[in-house]
Amino acid sequence: MQERCYYDKMKDKVEIKIDGKELIVPSSATILDVANEIGIYIPTLCHNDALKPYASCRMCLVEIYTNGRKRIVTACNYKVENGLEVYTTTKEVEKLRKINIEILLAKAPDSKKIQDLAFKLGVSETRFKKEKGNSCILCGLCARICEEIVGASAINFYDRGNKRKIGPPFGEPSEDCIGCGMCAYVCPTNTIEIIEKDGKRIIEPWGKEVKMKKCEKCGNYFIPQPLANKLEKEFGLKDAFKYCPKCKNGKG
Ligand code: SF4
Repeated sequence: MQERCYYDKMKDKVEIKIDGKELIVPSSATILDVANEIGIYIPTLCHNDALKPYASCRMCLVEIYTNGRKRIVTACNYKVENGLEVYTTTKEVEKLRKINIEILLAKAPDSKKIQDLAFKLGVSETRFKKEKGNSCILCGLCARICEEIVGASAINFYDRGNKRKIGPPFGEPSEDCIGCGMCAYVCPTNTIEIIEKDGKRIIEPWGKEVKMKKCEKCGNYFIPQPLANKLEKEFGLKDAFKYCPKCKNGKG
């Protein structure tokens, strides 16, 4: 019966089936967790293992059966339950994923990440009108990493419906931003850009400017000052950022 059990000492476990594989898994897992663990591919775009699931891109749609009832759900935030049956590659699921990636392709036609995923799903063009300008797909990765990992909460969603946007409160550069750049790092559409010039780091499209810290030996700017302050304070790293990494390692 049980093909695989991926935690030895599971307290709360449930029996499920994914693509015909019978499994015993922890009840705290999501369908996506289990699929990743056993090597079944489910596409994702707004998912990051380090962050809470958000289920906005709807690329991870799967077909499930519970108590004989069929539903289409997002695998990233659907918790497993006893008797759950999951099918990851049905015709309906594949069709819906293709429509979703076409919508995202229209919103962010220049995103390499979206183009690559579309290619993987067998989509080379979108039938929807390509949007120009703002390429944000509202995946929320930037705001979630800012809140959940960096602890700054400098950006968030605001407005509703088709006016919904992401950015600092009221669209004004936020005092809470420490210029770490994690938002730009996770953005799948390159909507967020980091520019460094004249001793400043500028985060676009929000026009946030933070001062960069100068190495006391070589004089190069190497870390945003507010980020250095936060790290020194939170981790007790007094004077950790006096010198740039090169000078610190004697290679400057
Ligand atoms: S700016 Fe980028 S990371 Fe943030 S919601 Fe838009 S697409 Fe996602």
